[in-house]
Amino acid sequence: MIRVLDSRVAEKIAAGEVIEHPASVVKELVENSLDAGATRIEISVTGGGKHSIRVTDNGCGIAPDEVELAFSRFATSKLSSLEDLEAIISLGFRGEALPSIAAVSRVTLTTRRKEDFAGTRIRVEGGAIFPPEAVGAPEGTEVLVEDLFYNTPGRMKFLRGEPQELARISALLTSLALAHPGCSFTLASEGKTVLRTTGDGFLLHAIGALYGSEAAAAMLPLQGRQPSLGLAVEGYISAPHFSRASRRWITVVVNGRVIQSPLLAGALERAYGGMLARRRHPVAVLIVKAPPKLLDVNVHPAKSEIRFQRPEIFNELVFRAARRALLGRPGAGGPPHGWMEEQQREWRRQQLQLLDPGRGKESREAAPAPAASFTAAAFSSAPEASPGDAAGGCRLIGQFLHSYLLAQEGEELLVIDQHAAHERVLYHALRAGECGLRPAQLTLPLNLELPPAWSVRLESLLPLLEEAGFILEPFGDNSYILRAIPSLMREGGAAEIYAFLEDLLQEEPEPGEAMEERLWQKIACHGAIKARQPLSRDEAEQLLRDWANTPGGACCPHGRPAVIRIHRAELDKKFLRKGGGRQ
Ligand code: ADP
Ligand code: MG
Repeated sequence: MIRVLDSRVAEKIAAGEVIEHPASVVKELVENSLDAGATRIEISVTGGGKHSIRVTDNGCGIAPDEVELAFSRFATSKLSSLEDLEAIISLGFRGEALPSIAAVSRVTLTTRRKEDFAGTRIRVEGGAIFPPEAVGAPEGTEVLVEDLFYNTPGRMKFLRGEPQELARISALLTSLALAHPGCSFTLASEGKTVLRTTGDGFLLHAIGALYGSEAAAAMLPLQGRQPSLGLAVEGYISAPHFSRASRRWITVVVNGRVIQSPLLAGALERAYGGMLARRRHPVAVLIVKAPPKLLDVNVHPAKSEIRFQRPEIFNELVFRAARRALLGRPGAGGPPHGWMEEQQREWRRQQLQLLDPGRGKESREAAPAPAASFTAAAFSSAPEASPGDAAGGCRLIGQFLHSYLLAQEGEELLVIDQHAAHERVLYHALRAGECGLRPAQLTLPLNLELPPAWSVRLESLLPLLEEAGFILEPFGDNSYILRAIPSLMREGGAAEIYAFLEDLLQEEPEPGEAMEERLWQKIACHGAIKARQPLSRDEAEQLLRDWANTPGGACCPHGRPAVIRIHRAELDKKFLRKGGGRQ
């Protein structure tokens, strides 16, 4: 039954406008559907959600005489007393979402409970409620939200472009679908399916549908319990070879609620120790179950943060469970065979039949390079005897740790970051249109299976990528065949191309930022000589020459320094020499 909350309870609840962009509308509506017990939720948007958002569920529906009440502030069927607030388990509880959405858009809600003969439809525009009417309707609820922020142009201004807003929605639904594998989610944009999960209850199937089968195949089951406190964590984490460039791929779900948890993400990453390369992050879904008294969900208006009453216990629980998962002993402390292992075995059986044998190998990323030895590798010929200056009075001395070029210019010692320097050279050449953007055919075309959130962005970038020399052909849902890459890029394996695309697609560009610039930077970065790469003397000299002839060579395109100069006077001072004498 929907009731208006007592003002005493209402005041206790973290207030705040929750509707910031189309994804916040989707979040509130989908959470309502989940609270209503839906097992199938279809979301369909146009204009990145700015024009319309339609959420249809097969949940319990709303009684005809309560439909109007659902749009009053602090009207909720989920909470009535302060005690309830402390033990909250449903996703929504403030009775604020529907009125907040209806205040800034045109909403049409159609609903029918199983036991009702007729359905009810109500329309609310900019907060003004029209009388409900009886209509024929399927069981469940459909909410249509049109023209978001039509009456608040100030807020409309803050919305991003349609692809970015759609990407936000897609990322949100990805995490909600991971949190609720028993519910089938479908997202369509302009009538085209963007993502879909089956809702068969298998988390691993959801991971496969959302992140691709390679990600699913790399997952290790995780399980941990702390029975005395009623705490448990389960889920999947990626084996160390399968990593990503950001933490966005770590989904934390606490009692059915997707939250941002730097604490638990940190605990998870510590468990990998040195197994992950620097700045790489695992893919993971952590499902935490905890008694409500150990949590305070009411900290954040969008409920996306949570306060743990005893953070160290949660921290320890996740760390240990992840450790065991990585060491191949997921079940320790729990039942010998959990549901995740069952799923895992089933999945592997299917994969063995599906995967072509070469493909698994390619996706493996190289393990982090062993620590470089601390020796300066001077080239065989003595620097004094080298054949003249490489460029502009700059002379090569040698390569240090296979990462830095040492050179001499007048009275200065130059330490040059070989990657940053080469990146600058390539970037400059790309901008000047001198090289590198011709397509170079790959010996073996690559099949790239992308997470839905990426493919949305990729689609909008396709023309630009083509101009740059990529040849990418759409190949079914979220899959592409990559036939060529810019000639300047090295032909690496799938993992390398994947990392390149991830880098390019995952951050949203700032409004007004030229995507072209960004693409050149990434291509230059990708094509450049890496750190810890041994160079022959000729190669090193060529690089030094190119670098010295490139304007703005002191920094890489991202603004990191490419060179450190140490003047002789500085060395003299350090060695307590006076006047640079010969002794
Ligand atoms: P809250 O979710 O915080 O209770 P909302 O404003 O989101 O507040 O929703 C108000 C009430 O409307 C809910 O408590 C619920 O009873 C009803 N409701 C909203 N959406 C649905 C839905 N999809 N199915 C069934 N009931 C719904
Ligand atoms: Mg709600």
